[in-house]
Amino acid sequence: MILAALRHRTCPPWCIEAHIGERPGARIHNGWLHAVECSRHPRCANGECQRLWLDLVLTPRDDGPLIHLQLDDLPVAMLTAAEAERLGLRLIGLAAISAMETPPSAA
Ligand SMILES: [Zn+2]
Repeated sequence: MILAALRHRTCPPWCIEAHIGERPGARIHNGWLHAVECSRHPRCANGECQRLWLDLVLTPRDDGPLIHLQLDDLPVAMLTAAEAERLGLRLIGLAAISAMETPPSAA
């Protein structure tokens, strides 16, 4: 418990120092928020784009920073750096495949 309270007392270089719920031993480090427009998400009932928010979070209970994904106010995932790298590569791969030209239909 004491070790957990002493973990991550110093801000990592990416922390914007806007600590949430600042209490001794409970510091939560946050990075800058990044947003990606999601124009085709099923929750876009009124035609307004949803935003996928991404940021780095480090809590005393974490071994390392996690990448937090949230769709507007809905938490989606907390990924380790390795998981986020795999997701990023898959997204880049899928975007590249989607750019391939579709052959005309035989009909
Ligand atoms: Zn910090």
